[in-house]
Amino acid sequence: MKERDINNTIRRMHKYKRWTTNIKKRDNKCVFCGKINELEVHHIRALSGLINYLNIDSRDKALGCDQLWDLKNGILVCHNCHLQIEKDIKIKNNCKIIEKAY
Ligand SMILES: [Zn+2]
Repeated sequence: MKERDINNTIRRMHKYKRWTTNIKKRDNKCVFCGKINELEVHHIRALSGLINYLNIDSRDKALGCDQLWDLKNGILVCHNCHLQIEKDIKIKNNCKIIEKAY
């Protein structure tokens, strides 16, 4: 399977829903600005990058890969902060803004 297909497959998985739910329960609000609505889960290490790095090419491999489901790889952010993070990552290509949250 191609990275894009795997990416979509993972995002539709039950396990993925549980992963995002657990992060929402843990963080409760946007870790940057404290907003409590329009919340989304941000992958600290991009899902596409992980898929490539871990050589995930099937549904079974994805399911069995613990690193993919590590709660430490996700943070809860609001829509606006999420856009800002993605923009910053694209510009600086680093994770400084994420380190600031902790
Ligand atoms: Zn926010």
